[in-house]
Amino acid sequence: MNRRNFLIALGGMTALTTPARAQGLVPASGEVDVAIVGAGAAGLAAARRVAAFGRSYALIEALDRVGGRAVTDVGRFDVPFDLGAHWLYAPRTNPLIPLARTNGLDIYPATRTQRLRLSARDAGAADAEAFAIALSRANRAIVTAGEQRTDVAAARAMADLGEWQATVAFRLGPATFGKDLDEVSAADYARAEERAEAAVCRQGAGAILALTALTLPVQHSTPVTEIEWGGKLITLATPRGPIRARAVVLTVSTAALAGGAIRFKPALPAAVAAACQKLALGSLNQVGIELAGNPLRLRDDELVTFKTASADTMALLGRVSGTDLAVATLGGKAGRELEQAGEAAMVAFVTEQLTAHYGADIRTAIGRSFATRWGAAPTILGAMSVAAPGAQPMRRQLGQPLDNRLFIAGEATHETAWGTLHGAWLSGERAAEQALRALGVAVPTTAPAPTLPRQPAQPLQRKRRQPRPSDMPARD
Ligand SMILES: Cc1cc2nc3c(=O)[nH]c(=O)nc-3n(C[C@H](O)[C@H](O)[C@H](O)COP(=O)(O)OP(=O)(O)OC[C@H]3O[C@@H](n4cnc5c(N)ncnc54)[C@H](O)[C@@H]3O)c2cc1C
Repeated sequence: MNRRNFLIALGGMTALTTPARAQGLVPASGEVDVAIVGAGAAGLAAARRVAAFGRSYALIEALDRVGGRAVTDVGRFDVPFDLGAHWLYAPRTNPLIPLARTNGLDIYPATRTQRLRLSARDAGAADAEAFAIALSRANRAIVTAGEQRTDVAAARAMADLGEWQATVAFRLGPATFGKDLDEVSAADYARAEERAEAAVCRQGAGAILALTALTLPVQHSTPVTEIEWGGKLITLATPRGPIRARAVVLTVSTAALAGGAIRFKPALPAAVAAACQKLALGSLNQVGIELAGNPLRLRDDELVTFKTASADTMALLGRVSGTDLAVATLGGKAGRELEQAGEAAMVAFVTEQLTAHYGADIRTAIGRSFATRWGAAPTILGAMSVAAPGAQPMRRQLGQPLDNRLFIAGEATHETAWGTLHGAWLSGERAAEQALRALGVAVPTTAPAPTLPRQPAQPLQRKRRQPRPSDMPARD
């Protein structure tokens, strides 16, 4: 599918998924087998699963679009810009990859070429090696700590890395998970599936979900405000009227749930409420910047790490899919402060960083810009769930069926692929299958896809060969 056809496809999507059309799905009785709250990755996967077994369902979305934290903007820069998820991790088993290909989208392996920038020049081999070693040391130390009986904050597990401390801490914490390492459970970090390998969708990761939704009757702009799950049927209150269901799959983010946007009658169990608090979302935002003529002299999809002495830094993905679009990632506490200061402050920060590292002339090459503010999106309120120290087991708890009729899904419920698109997708499929079984549907058990564990905590083998910057553990 070329770009023009793709844009036409997305344009068609709006027409196909208007609320008026979608309203027809819920029978006049207002009663369905399964109500699915949220049309992000988890909700879309759940809807497809329920539909595959021929059961009735309502797919209810608060926003006027699908995708949740995975959405591709095609208007601002005239090229696809992933506002949220971009990398398709675990490409060998990621269920979104075959789905994308079936829909005519172009998937290619992420080269993940990486560059380290020291104040105003690219690092040479010695610095790149020192950084790669420091990164690897810290990664191993956190994984080892996370495998112990008592969980600690990932920051406590890190040895003193001297001049690389802040750079490594940013890469492993805010740039990857949206949280500083003092807020990250070492056990959660250690259990997180390996992300060294990834694929990219040229039309955008969000486009995969948008195309998937074309065949699903999504009820847009329909926020669920109350879920009454004490009676024979579960009743969901929405501004368009109530929906009654035999089972509910709930895919709303932990932050939105903790924020109380939905009233539950009876209240959710205390353990679930606690899990939403302890699996809070971090802050991660993308600042898209148009850089015409490749002034940073980057290769396509090259990731730049800036050596820093403080948390006030960013990561930069240059020449996204070979275009003039560069995307800076801001995250953690410092990133949250910038987000709260507003889009202009975020763009100004990125511009200052580029000027500091590449010279004042770079300003003239900067064209259009745009910054996401996921923390201010009222139905999402952050980036991805990260367990506080000691809270890793709460993921399993959050995913437990409630009264065998209320099934919580979403990235936070996946024990190893949390914080990812495919983790959310798989959790939606799992919850849908649980709901179908609860309704008496014979759903065959599928073997879970194997997950790649993180690298084992082995002693570092120095000088076996010269590490290149591309040896750095790949992260966002
Ligand atoms: C900046 C950023 C970068 C990321 N990068 C990557 C990456 O490169 N690779 C990767 O794999 N993952 C990445 N992620 C994580 C990934 O995007 C998420 O894990 C995933 O999209 C979450 O899907 P979900 O279905 O669990 O939740 P969501 O996407 O949040 O979907 C939940 C949906 O529920 C809706 N909703 C909320 N309240 C209500 C209500 N009351 N009534 C009805 N609907 C409601 C919301 O509007 C939303 O659409 C990134 C995330 C961010 C923010």
